[in-house]
Amino acid sequence: MVGKINKIYCDALIIGCGPAGLSAAAKLSEKNFKVLCIEKKKEIGKPVQCAEGIGSYLIKRLPFKIPKKLLEWKINGLTFNVDGIKIIRDQKEWAGYSINRLKVDKWLAKRAVKKGAKILTNVKINSIKLKGKKIIKVIIKVKKKLIEVFPKKVIIASGINSFILKKLGIYHEKKFSLMNVFAVEMKNIKLKDERFEQFYFCSLMPNAFFFIFPKSKNKANVGIGAFENNKKTKELFKKFIKNSTLKKMFSKAKIVSNKSKKAVFEGFTNKWFYGNTLLVGDAANQNIKPFIEGYLPAIICGNIAGEILFTKKISKYKLLVKKKIPEIWLSKHFIKNLKLLFKSKNKKKHLIIAAYVSNSINEKELKKILKGKDFIESKIMKK
Ligand SMILES: Cc1cc2nc3c(=O)[nH]c(=O)nc-3n(C[C@H](O)[C@H](O)[C@H](O)COP(=O)(O)OP(=O)(O)OC[C@H]3O[C@@H](n4cnc5c(N)ncnc54)[C@H](O)[C@@H]3O)c2cc1C
Repeated sequence: MVGKINKIYCDALIIGCGPAGLSAAAKLSEKNFKVLCIEKKKEIGKPVQCAEGIGSYLIKRLPFKIPKKLLEWKINGLTFNVDGIKIIRDQKEWAGYSINRLKVDKWLAKRAVKKGAKILTNVKINSIKLKGKKIIKVIIKVKKKLIEVFPKKVIIASGINSFILKKLGIYHEKKFSLMNVFAVEMKNIKLKDERFEQFYFCSLMPNAFFFIFPKSKNKANVGIGAFENNKKTKELFKKFIKNSTLKKMFSKAKIVSNKSKKAVFEGFTNKWFYGNTLLVGDAANQNIKPFIEGYLPAIICGNIAGEILFTKKISKYKLLVKKKIPEIWLSKHFIKNLKLLFKSKNKKKHLIIAAYVSNSINEKELKKILKGKDFIESKIMKK
């Protein structure tokens, strides 16, 4: 498809080679469509900007198996911590793995290429030509060479990059569209609960959570998700690892690499289908809140998008995703209730947040608490 000529005609142009785009590319290629994937990074998956945790409950819903050797560290469950109170969730549905995202991204790319997709990296989009709602031409720049791409259909899998959504006129930013995630891989941590992903909530960080995702006995991705600017989020992180609860654990810890990036929280658009374009993955806010679990949802939704792009089922895209990952819809309630909790003046606010996100209290109970009813601590202690 890509020769010396500077014109490419393809069935599907996929913009963005993260898990969503690569999964869609593989599915479309499997169906013998001519697929061109473009990626702005020089190398697929690099730099890693992810905490690399995945849930077993979603592995079961994947359209294909990720090789076992890429699931690096078994996770038995999650803990939610507030002022010495720890809620442990060790039931099967809370288990998972830490992956090596760079390796899995590269494996997804190889898989797509094997099935026939063409991937171009280090690509800059110069311009996009629309006819009505449809993208009819995209001019890209690769190694100083301009190429005109004429796609029949387009998949936007460009994550939080808003450029194309703005061009299509479907971009609407809100206060909670994005969450700042400061994340680093650290070694020499004296990890407790090394088989548990750990979340912490405290008054030091009113609208934020601190996390530890172990990758071995003494290595972990550690960070903060916050609705604060970069500087403040980083400051919170520094303060938190020095606070009394965690001081010992991090006294000898060293940063190996930085994996920070903004993550999609409320998203930018409700449109998943526009003109000849489908949105997939983070571009369509297809991740599970409150902790923005988006890696496996991106693969699952990418596969659905590839399956239906050239069929009549395209109008049922949302329905198909909803059937496969209903949790994405439940996320909306989570966001609504979390916003209420952020505003709450209840003294036990952080314990209530931990109880709510760990599913120890349900929405009905939460509503009662928000209306002023007492929060009964013993209820979560029993779990
Ligand atoms: C710090 C952080 C930690 C996270 N931790 C976890 C976790 O532990 N577990 C989990 O499940 N999820 C996690 N997530 C969320 C998860 O990373 C995303 O939901 C997932 O990567 C979404 O996949 P995607 O393919 O939609 O987008 P991305 O993975 O963002 O891929 C988009 C790709 O498009 C490319 N691109 C962007 N613009 C253009 C353009 N104009 N032209 C060409 N290419 C373009 C980008 O370079 C990128 O490669 C985390 C997110 C962040 C930010």
